[in-house]
Amino acid sequence: MESNLNKALKESLKYFSHKERLATFKTWIFSKKYPCNVEKMAEAGFIFIGSKNEPDSVKCFFCNTNLDRWEPNDNPWKEHLRHAPKCSFAKLQQPMDQITLREYYILHSQLCHSVIDAYIEEQRLASGKLFKKLEAKFRK
Ligand SMILES: [Zn+2]
Repeated sequence: MESNLNKALKESLKYFSHKERLATFKTWIFSKKYPCNVEKMAEAGFIFIGSKNEPDSVKCFFCNTNLDRWEPNDNPWKEHLRHAPKCSFAKLQQPMDQITLREYYILHSQLCHSVIDAYIEEQRLASGKLFKKLEAKFRK
């Protein structure tokens, strides 16, 4: 059986692919002629998490920052960095095919670390005593 941690890692890492991010945008509020279009949104790290009532709700696959209330002339990269100045992906400010393989692996490992941290926190909250037993087996 696959662990929940593996599943969480796989789910998060798949969004390193521009194509996978783009595929989450089944609909978008602005057409291609505007700077705030689906291509640019996906390029800047966003995946669509909206609904009928929230037609422009997105989140960054890397830092999980949620954003909405987009304007047609917004620059997705700039808005990303403005609202999430610590996001390593937002700091790229350029498409992923413009970075080095080393930069890619560093981003990759950062994302793995944050998924692991979130998983540990989730386990701590969900399984209280059981988790304390597990935690006690390791150095603090
Ligand atoms: Zn981000």
